[in-house]
Amino acid sequence: MPPVLIVGAGMAGLACASALHRAGKPFLLLEAADAVGGRIRTDLTPDGFRLDRGFQVLLSAYPEVRRQVRLETLRPRAFRSGAVLRLPDGTQTLLPDPLRNPLALPGALFSPIGSFADKLRLAGLVLELLPRSADALLQGQGSSTLAYLRAGGWSERVIERFFIPFFGGVFLDRSLSADSRFFRFVFQQFVLGRALLPSLGMQALPAQLAAGLPGDCVRLHAPVRSVEPGGVRLQNGEALEGSAVVLAVEGHVLDALLPESAAPVAWQRTTCLYFDAPVSPGKGDGYLRLNSTPASLVHNVCFPSDIAPDYAPPGRTLVSVSSHGAHGLEPAAFEKRVCAELKEWFGPAAQEWRPLRTYEIAHALPPFATIPRRPPPKGVWICGDHVGYPSFNCALATGRATGERLAASLA
Ligand SMILES: Cc1cc2nc3c(=O)[nH]c(=O)nc-3n(C[C@H](O)[C@H](O)[C@H](O)COP(=O)(O)OP(=O)(O)OC[C@H]3O[C@@H](n4cnc5c(N)ncnc54)[C@H](O)[C@@H]3O)c2cc1C
Repeated sequence: MPPVLIVGAGMAGLACASALHRAGKPFLLLEAADAVGGRIRTDLTPDGFRLDRGFQVLLSAYPEVRRQVRLETLRPRAFRSGAVLRLPDGTQTLLPDPLRNPLALPGALFSPIGSFADKLRLAGLVLELLPRSADALLQGQGSSTLAYLRAGGWSERVIERFFIPFFGGVFLDRSLSADSRFFRFVFQQFVLGRALLPSLGMQALPAQLAAGLPGDCVRLHAPVRSVEPGGVRLQNGEALEGSAVVLAVEGHVLDALLPESAAPVAWQRTTCLYFDAPVSPGKGDGYLRLNSTPASLVHNVCFPSDIAPDYAPPGRTLVSVSSHGAHGLEPAAFEKRVCAELKEWFGPAAQEWRPLRTYEIAHALPPFATIPRRPPPKGVWICGDHVGYPSFNCALATGRATGERLAASLA
């Protein structure tokens, strides 16, 4: 039997390959890039910094992570629960574990009238979401998260000062246009688990899945040009025969490979800048820093090497700065404004931080559940985060489900 051809070795393609491998079915995983991982990659600089291609975290409660990943072998290190929030007047306040302990939130966040009501709402939401299954939270009718929060009676102050900085960072979108079903899922995941970094960078996650596959079943530098009856054709003209084709590519690539079926995808974009600092600006407190100032470009800051020391060479601190959405500036002007904001936030010491690298990620997160224009042709299967919601938990879930269904159909 010819192998199943899986196009794309991100988390979805890797999960699909793992499921087929477990079922003893032949497969060939074709990846255009020089390594597996897709949007989860980590670059090691010559001087020993580990730079994730965009700031992201591994949530320990993700159901598919618990199912498919041996978490302990990644030697994960946890962010401290809670965050330091920068308020519009430049002062900072600590949110001590806002989702697990809503009643402990500082009164400064809330309007004098709304404060107690907002705290109770937060506690009520925790109680409502906690017992539900992740799948149940992702079903039903959704609206934008902003509309959902407003309909729930939350004060504008708590939306601006808590939900936008915190969940705007998760959605890479401070307008909170993300679907409320995704918000409810992520909210629950933050309550249930911890935000982690693998000791050697986020790429350790896909690398672990790849390590469980036979090496000769993964081909790197193998971009697929087209899907053809009975297989695929690579960019170099080579034709490959397959018993089925799984497209585990990003939504916009799907549009190119299957123009009849795919729907256009509007992506959230983000920019991540890394700096080398001589000392930890966070003094090793392990908190993520969030900015609630509305017109700022710097939206969150963290010090990954305070969490996982191997992110920086000994004696240095890695600073990660994220800015979400389209900034519309030339790179030099953008970096100048970011540096000015960092100086305002962290003081003159920020001027001494050495820029390491900037990642502009135009295709970071797809919207919730992109509906295909029509089903894919017979023998072609589709998986990836664009099918459900923008998280690698979804990529893992859809990849595994596709692999299991395919294996059953080939039995
Ligand atoms: C900056 C950033 C932060 C994020 N933060 C989080 C987070 O904190 N938590 C979370 O859960 N998720 C986060 N995500 C989302 C998460 O990374 C994605 O949901 C997940 O990795 C998507 O996996 P995938 O396999 O569906 O797609 P991808 O990872 O995009 O994989 C698709 C693969 O297909 C390959 N490919 C494309 N075209 C071809 C072709 N023609 N031939 C062969 N191969 C091809 C690509 O090279 C790629 O390897 C973040 C993403 C970004 C970018």
